[in-house]
Amino acid sequence: MSASPRLQLSPPWVKALPLIGIALLAVAPLLLPEFTVTLLNYIGLYAIVAMGLVLLTGVGGLTSFGQAAFVGLGAYTTATLTTTYGVSPWLTLLVGLALTALVALALGFITLRLSGHYLPLGTIAWGISLYYLFGNVEFLGGHTGISGIPTLGVFGFELHSGREFFYLIWLAVLGVVVLTRNLLDSRSGRAIRALKGGSLMAEAMGVNTPRAKIVIFTVAALYACLSGWLYAHLQRFVNPTPFSLTQGIEYLFMAVIGGVAHVWGALLGAGLITILKQWLQDWLPQLLGQSGNFEIIFFGLMMIFILHRSRDGLWPILLRFVPQAPAAQRVTTVGQPLARRPVVERGQELLSVREATKRFGGLVANNQMSLDVRAGEVVALIGPNGAGKSTLFNGISGVDPLTSGEITFRGERVERLPSREIARRGMSRTFQHVRLLSGMSVLDNVAIGAHLRGDRGYLPAALHLERDEEARLLAEAAYQIERCGLAEHLNDAAGSLPLGKQRIVEIARALAADPCLLLLDEPAAGLRYFEKQALAELLRRLRDEGIGVLLVEHDMDFVMGLADRVVVMEFGEKLAEGLPEDVQRNPAVLEAYLGGVE
Ligand code: ADP
Ligand code: MG
Repeated sequence: MSASPRLQLSPPWVKALPLIGIALLAVAPLLLPEFTVTLLNYIGLYAIVAMGLVLLTGVGGLTSFGQAAFVGLGAYTTATLTTTYGVSPWLTLLVGLALTALVALALGFITLRLSGHYLPLGTIAWGISLYYLFGNVEFLGGHTGISGIPTLGVFGFELHSGREFFYLIWLAVLGVVVLTRNLLDSRSGRAIRALKGGSLMAEAMGVNTPRAKIVIFTVAALYACLSGWLYAHLQRFVNPTPFSLTQGIEYLFMAVIGGVAHVWGALLGAGLITILKQWLQDWLPQLLGQSGNFEIIFFGLMMIFILHRSRDGLWPILLRFVPQAPAAQRVTTVGQPLARRPVVERGQELLSVREATKRFGGLVANNQMSLDVRAGEVVALIGPNGAGKSTLFNGISGVDPLTSGEITFRGERVERLPSREIARRGMSRTFQHVRLLSGMSVLDNVAIGAHLRGDRGYLPAALHLERDEEARLLAEAAYQIERCGLAEHLNDAAGSLPLGKQRIVEIARALAADPCLLLLDEPAAGLRYFEKQALAELLRRLRDEGIGVLLVEHDMDFVMGLADRVVVMEFGEKLAEGLPEDVQRNPAVLEAYLGGVE
């Protein structure tokens, strides 16, 4: 493979882009006409909301149409408290954020349980409800709204004009950009990004997915609230109109068109939509010879076109024109590696499955299956396709619980525990159908496996106060990648590897959890001869370290050369069990599994 794209360094002007941007922003209000400054102010306010949607929708995969309602919450809280009760505006920001957090937690608790299209529908429902609340409650000014909102003072300096306000808004934008980027570049960020790959994998790696969802939902709401608070003091007047569902949809437009999975996409989208809207509002009626909100129609068509051409919005397209820096090598040597689990003594029982039964409606996929795995042994689970091996793995790991039966793991009954709790106790697995985040690097994918070995949460991540732990997590991930022979692919996107190697990435991810029991579902499928040998060697080493391995595999040479014991399944039931050589001679096995030949 050619190494050229990785070694190519980006020219200095690319590295200077953010600084150039900040410098331009700093002088903008001094040079630009009033109208343009106002436009930039709005772009900043919208970008803050869109940034929340990048986190929620783009990264987390949860769509919300209701963000405008949270903007309204921020705006109305400060409008009411400052005008009616004379509370200081800076205090109302804190009150607004606290109130928004409460509302978001309550709404999130109800709506985030909804799946599929019910979630967006749910956000529409409360988006509309809050909008009508603003319009119909008398002390919120009804549809006339609230006027006379005071200006903001910063260190005794009153922000009267849009030009003065500009700096506060764009400081807020920068702050939100930094927080969001920090959050995404962390253990918590990996947990959030894992949501998009379906909760199943994330949970199996120990991520508390309902919690991750609630957190990004709340953060997005807090951003919106901040934007609303700024808006109220910029306008010094609020009424319900800017907080309607239409505006909520527009925020989503901005995030999606800009590039919903990219922090800068929020800025791009907010800028583009705001400027286009202004322009279209001026020109379309003149062009068409009649007045009306034609820009909405235009946006609808543009949205369809962009989604058709580039699912990820315009930001990735823009990036193509900028020479890319090579993926940063973020692994540094660390003083203190992550703590390891105490080793289970070889030969001691790790896993005991008793009479495991799993029904899918009328189909009995596992029927009274029993097996054991001890520390320091490799047990192979074999059987024809559809025998129920993967189903049993799902039952054991808690990914899809059994209908009945008992599972004891390290002396503790676990069949009723969620998969993340089982993972916490030292069981780690791979999936037959590879579940990696294909756009993410191999390093980040494997680091998800180490999730439970860190404990710094979302707030330290957003403030980057967890760099020490993060470095140790990444170092651990890098170690496991190297151990599995994938060091050269550390920074490659996981999805760019051949399927066989992706399976090895899954093993590295499972190992990053420092497990005492490994469940490997067809790990050697798609591997070439030498790769299989390397894998067998790795598994032998793990066995010698005292790890228990339960693996499903179809390659009989691989299995027979490696396994200490073999369990044979057919039609969901155990057909035979024993030493490889005995099982190989068992007539029932030969009949059922090997087709009766030899
Ligand atoms: P194996 O891994 O041994 O090839 P599986 O455990 O994947 O077999 O499947 C066992 C049986 O259970 C198959 O008949 C399969 O169609 C069925 N099955 C597996 N998962 C589900 C599911 N989620 N819903 C319904 N049937 C399933
Ligand atoms: Mg299977």
